[in-house]
Amino acid sequence: MLNLDYHPSGRHFLQIPGPSPVPDRILRAMSLPTIDHRGPEFGALGRELLDKIKQVFKTGNPVVIYPASGTGAWEAALVNVLSPGDRVLMFETGHFATLWQKMALRLGLEPEFLGLPGTEGWRQGVQADMIEARLREDGGHEIKAVCVVHNETSTGVTSDIAAVRRAIDAVGHPALLLVDTISGLASADYRHDEWGVDVTISGSQKGLMLPPGISFNAVSDKAIATSREAQLPKSFWAWDEIIEANRNGYWPYTPSTNLLYGLNESLDMLLEEGLDHVLARHQRWAAGVRAAVAAWGLEIQCQDAALYSPVLTGVMMPDGVDADAVRQLIYERFDLSLGMGLGKVKGRMFRIGHLGDCNDLTLIATLGGCEAGMKLSGVPLKDSGVVAALDYFARHPLDAR
Ligand SMILES: *Cc1c(COP(=O)(O)O)cnc(C)c1O
Repeated sequence: MLNLDYHPSGRHFLQIPGPSPVPDRILRAMSLPTIDHRGPEFGALGRELLDKIKQVFKTGNPVVIYPASGTGAWEAALVNVLSPGDRVLMFETGHFATLWQKMALRLGLEPEFLGLPGTEGWRQGVQADMIEARLREDGGHEIKAVCVVHNETSTGVTSDIAAVRRAIDAVGHPALLLVDTISGLASADYRHDEWGVDVTISGSQKGLMLPPGISFNAVSDKAIATSREAQLPKSFWAWDEIIEANRNGYWPYTPSTNLLYGLNESLDMLLEEGLDHVLARHQRWAAGVRAAVAAWGLEIQCQDAALYSPVLTGVMMPDGVDADAVRQLIYERFDLSLGMGLGKVKGRMFRIGHLGDCNDLTLIATLGGCEAGMKLSGVPLKDSGVVAALDYFARHPLDAR
């Protein structure tokens, strides 16, 4: 039975790949009184954060912010640029790509779901050559958009978005490029303008270190132009009124005022540290966690070393071990939350989140909980992953600034 009175001492270790732990600085910023969303202070706040958020997406174009989870921003991206019956090319990288494809079906689009056989594609990234080959066959330009997930949170694979752009350009195909970086933004390298992305979808509760509840569409000029013609019904999600109101720092409806306080603080934290430093920090943590998995003698879900996610690592369990049971034991014994295997890999693996407000020692503690929990579950381990990660972190200091 759920016992809401149970409060273990110390901090819970929220090491799922989103929501990620919210820094105290952001919680404090969010605790300020809610203000008049039509007043002058709000307009100044809106203008400031709408300007700063562009730097995180690496775009000079507008970023639309919705009071919704990432799923809402997925829908917003599709309904703004597509019409009923439009063919869209999607790629099966894992559970989130699959959910987005199902949404496209429900919205009355005709998604074509490319992928590798079985669960093979759940260990690899987007295959740009398959996209290129399919677009080459589409001489009549029936395909209106290519939709891919940048950081597939269900597997720990970060796909090469620049390669997908090159594949579209190699064919000279006019399809729009829509990219989900809900879990990649502000943790993995992402470049909306440079990679020629038309709509980038993101969310608040992963690399931005906010609670869940707001999400984003970064748009290109081509996407905005397309949205004026696109015929899927849209009202709440329509970009035009929001972008218009945003010019003065306001929204056409009541925005999530306190989450926007948090976003403004998060943007200050990220930009003060420097995005390059933030990304290097995540790469280093990921490498330390992978050193632990290697020492344990276990397999990483991602099979392409060039695409290891800086955000999370999927750890595969040996045959016959129920990964969910291991996760549950770790939760109950050590007050540590890990991500579960989703969809096709349910029960086969668990996921360690190493994003946002972590440090070397919170990750060492996380790996300690994993190691002890696996031992208690009878998972055979070769060596200590904790010692391997400690050693990795000690030998690879992050540049002092
Ligand atoms: C978390 C996540 C989503 C879903 O976002 P919600 O905020 O749960 O609606 C979609 N795609 C990816 C890659 C994610 O990590």
